[in-house]
Amino acid sequence: MESPPAYCDVSLPVPMDHVFTYLLPETLRHRVQTGSRVLAPFGHRTLAGIVLRTHSEKPDAPARELLRLLEEEPALDEDLLKLGRWIAEYYCAPLGEVLRAMTPLAGDVRRGKIISLTPSGRDAARQLHLTDGAEDDPARAILQMLDARAMSASYLKQKVPRAAAVLRSLEKKGFIEAEDVAAERDPLRASAARLRAEFVKRPGEEKLPKSQRELLSYLELHPGSHNVAELEKAVASASTAARALARKDLAKLTLEAVGATLTPFRPPHDLNAHQQEAFDHIRAALAKKEFQTFLLEGVTGSGKTEVYLNAIDAALELGRSSLMLVPEIGLTPAVAGQFHHRFGDRVAILHSAFHDSERAQEWRRIRAGEARVVVATRSGVFAPVRNLGLIIVDEEHDQSYKQQETPRYHGRDVAIVRARDAGAAVVLGSATPSLESRYNTERGKYQRLLLPERVESRPLPKVEVIDMRQEFLETRKQATFSRALVDAVAERLDNHEQAMLLLNRRGFSSFMTCRACGARLECPNCSVTLTFHRRDRRMLCHYCNYSCRVPERCPTCDSDHIQFLGIGSERVEDELHGAFPRARIARIDRDTVGGKRDYETILAKFRDGEYDLLVGTQMIAKGHDIPNVTLVGIVSADTGLGLPDFRAAERTFQLLTQAAGRAGRGTQPGIVLMQTINPDHYAIVCAAEQNYEKFYAREIEFRRLMHYPPFAALANVIIRGSKEEEALERSASLGRLLNPAPEGVKILGPAAASLSKLKNEYRYQMLIKTPSRKRLTEVLRDVRRFAAQEKWNPTSLVIDVDPMTLL
Ligand code: ADP
Ligand code: ZN
Ligand code: ZN
Repeated sequence: MESPPAYCDVSLPVPMDHVFTYLLPETLRHRVQTGSRVLAPFGHRTLAGIVLRTHSEKPDAPARELLRLLEEEPALDEDLLKLGRWIAEYYCAPLGEVLRAMTPLAGDVRRGKIISLTPSGRDAARQLHLTDGAEDDPARAILQMLDARAMSASYLKQKVPRAAAVLRSLEKKGFIEAEDVAAERDPLRASAARLRAEFVKRPGEEKLPKSQRELLSYLELHPGSHNVAELEKAVASASTAARALARKDLAKLTLEAVGATLTPFRPPHDLNAHQQEAFDHIRAALAKKEFQTFLLEGVTGSGKTEVYLNAIDAALELGRSSLMLVPEIGLTPAVAGQFHHRFGDRVAILHSAFHDSERAQEWRRIRAGEARVVVATRSGVFAPVRNLGLIIVDEEHDQSYKQQETPRYHGRDVAIVRARDAGAAVVLGSATPSLESRYNTERGKYQRLLLPERVESRPLPKVEVIDMRQEFLETRKQATFSRALVDAVAERLDNHEQAMLLLNRRGFSSFMTCRACGARLECPNCSVTLTFHRRDRRMLCHYCNYSCRVPERCPTCDSDHIQFLGIGSERVEDELHGAFPRARIARIDRDTVGGKRDYETILAKFRDGEYDLLVGTQMIAKGHDIPNVTLVGIVSADTGLGLPDFRAAERTFQLLTQAAGRAGRGTQPGIVLMQTINPDHYAIVCAAEQNYEKFYAREIEFRRLMHYPPFAALANVIIRGSKEEEALERSASLGRLLNPAPEGVKILGPAAASLSKLKNEYRYQMLIKTPSRKRLTEVLRDVRRFAAQEKWNPTSLVIDVDPMTLL
């Protein structure tokens, strides 16, 4: 018989391209496989990594022994490993860090101590069996427990009084040893509020403690699943008891989808002609089981979701699973609820707001093939979906699909590669597709599907552009709201309709400046001004969260002529209160919304009519469908236009069009008032007309002329360091390395980044552009090799391939 492999190569989450070889302990030789998640010693640390292969080739240097296998079932199958390799190559990221990002279970590992008996400890324990002693002696209890098996320190501390002190003394005597390992989390640790329990069976011989007995009878008498937190009202200690019963397989615990119970059921609509035509194309691709990418371009309110739901149905009918990606902020209870109603138990929801253990549990359901419809934010693109037939990327233009830390992958693009390998269909949906995707339809890479009208022939909202320069000339007042906007808000309040007001800038005032010397108050850690937050009475940095008291005098010249300029969302809310004292006003931005739950709560209350007006940043512009909103006011359409970024116009157009699309989605038509000082800018003109085609035609010419994506592959290389000279010098040496630029490659910089200092690090930047993707990868590989040769600290080089922002 062939002997089992003695070694395995492991990819660890470290910023190096190395693979590390470990010796497999006897007990693991038959169990560790390609894709297994394991614990390995690394220097003085213990790291969780992924096994790339097992083999029997004796390495040159003696290999250390692997510590543990984390789960019997491999975390990544061959297909996902292949996808990981593609990401590492395309985004120039270390494979180990890519694989870690692909396995959410990584968060499942918790550091802890495992206690086991030493040989003399074992002798001592055996002796105890022979002697009588006080039954409640904690040392005795611990030794006896450990004689059965090694246990975690935290478990012993739960079970035995004064365990901590006893463990210390036993360790001193040499009876026990403690090993630092990562322990797996109990999947039942999810908060009781999110758990549902139901009856499975009565116990056999086993005697249960009172609370468990009571709960079990309650569950038996009340069939169906119950919210565990709610059960507390009926049965004392229900939450602890429920977990104990689940461990004994007497009750079943399941995770509740966020908000599944909050949303009213919406019956499926009959598709209208446009929806039907789009759906027919998608269904045909599903039936052929061939890879194909569609761009579903549908105006706001055209019913894209209904097309998705039908496509998922069709995939299920063909026996295939679906994965739907939504933007970070798009996974609201309304969305989750809709999917639950339609697909029931077959749905798994993966949300970054979930606890690790909750996510791990959903992950296992997906891997086991129980969940066949997965709705997820970015990292869900790695969910181990079985028999994948369809991937939907909703709001495909959304920036949150791009990860802003290593590995800096784009969820949409990874989805397409994954679908290609799986022979699945892809549907990218948006009212304002990214230039890249729209251009791909012209090149024949994607097929374009159009939903040109709102459902039930509802009109798109009427948009009026208000020139705030003219307003100033007429009123001689620098006002936040134009007269037209004030009138329009008043009218909504009178009619009991609702309005949304968008200003994509947080805080009360964007900066503080001195009228005597002109100084602006800047962040000491970053090259940006501090924003005035009135409620907190602080000056705050939006990049590093530095904050300080609001100075009364200019820190530079000590003058007291200081003023606050630039309006933020907090001030908009404040002025609205002033203008409409009786209106009920809510605000959504990162200062009012701590977690996802706050966001959902405010939004739900607004939908239920508990507020009249909703103020907010771009957080309010996305995807919501609130029928009673008949006015959207854009306080300033100009906030993003001035940014030194080639995507500034695109981003502005998308934000304004999406925001405008919130108006008039119900039976009442809506209007949009757009205040601007750039009324002739094409991004604003086209957004006001809600004319994507016109914007696209204009913007694509600009990109072509300037050799920007989609006409070039682009990477942003940032060199950063805590010492300015060092960062400067390193960027210069990279500049020399790439000078002259390789053929067909354009290099801009090195130059100080537009955010030249961030969190106390100085930043220099190089932009690399080339029509050839292959060339770009080669150049970046050289850059990484150079940095490694020069022994730069890995964090000092940031490579962002296909960057969404150049700041
Ligand atoms: P989009 O995502 O394209 O902006 P939604 O999918 O949110 O639009 O749909 C807008 C509204 O239209 C929703 O309330 C939805 O239930 C409804 N709807 C979808 N399809 C139809 C249809 N065929 N007939 C009537 N209403 C529909
Ligand atoms: Zn001053
Ligand atoms: Zn700062």
